[in-house]
Amino acid sequence: MKILKLGGSVITKKDKPMTPNKENIQRLAIEIKESNEKKLVIIHGGGSYGHPLAKKYNLTDGYEDKNQLKGFIETHQAMLKLNTIITKTLNEEGILTIAIAPNNFLITSNNEIKEINTKVLSRYVEMDIIPVLYGDPVLDHMKGFTILSGDQLAVVLAKKLRAKRIVFGADVDGVFTSDPKIDKDSKLIKVLNVNDFEEKISVKGALSTDVTGGMLSKIREASEAVKAGIEVILVNANKEKRVEKALTGKDVKGTKLVLS
Ligand code: ADP
Repeated sequence: MKILKLGGSVITKKDKPMTPNKENIQRLAIEIKESNEKKLVIIHGGGSYGHPLAKKYNLTDGYEDKNQLKGFIETHQAMLKLNTIITKTLNEEGILTIAIAPNNFLITSNNEIKEINTKVLSRYVEMDIIPVLYGDPVLDHMKGFTILSGDQLAVVLAKKLRAKRIVFGADVDGVFTSDPKIDKDSKLIKVLNVNDFEEKISVKGALSTDVTGGMLSKIREASEAVKAGIEVILVNANKEKRVEKALTGKDVKGTKLVLS
């Protein structure tokens, strides 16, 4: 089975609060259908739904005052709305999906997933129903609550469900020597060794509304999957057919993470 993580900047308009990128969601639904991948789990980011609220209520700092509980619920509600738009679009394309809220079945400890039961998820995958999850406000043993990153969830589920490959769909062509949005001389790294990536890349300028870490933490999380023998590829999900090609294992522009 495979895992597809769609970045918040792909499925929402990041600079407009609570605005889905309907064209991208629709196109990606068609690409997922065309890929004919039935054993799949999809995880999406928060973009302009989750991140601004999580930031407003300082949810990643953990539970400090009661006012944040309202923020916890509001952020979760916002993510549910986005998740519904995505699952509805996929279902309308004839893809069987089921929405699953991460905060219903896992607990973190200091931001790391500690307790997780994947029996229900595995059963859906066996039945060729695609679970669709997301970065969510979750309960945390040490902090009361926190924001779980969709990237970490993708990696943990890939390991638990013994995925063959994780495809990260972002709004850039892959991992560059520096942030391609601010540095015109940055170069795409087609194959990135997870053992020494921190010396090879600079990540300055990652979008400030992201509460869960940006490109550096994405690669750090993804490294754990590579070390477990799972293929990892980052592609630009804003560009046509890249996600479809990455899912089906075709040659595609992007960054492959490897272990030397
Ligand atoms: P997503 O929303 O897809 O999960 P993030 O926003 O967390 O992804 O990270 C992707 C962003 O990281 C890109 O939009 C890019 O601006 C930024 N970034 C910073 N440094 C790099 C780099 N060295 N290579 C690629 N992207 C980078």
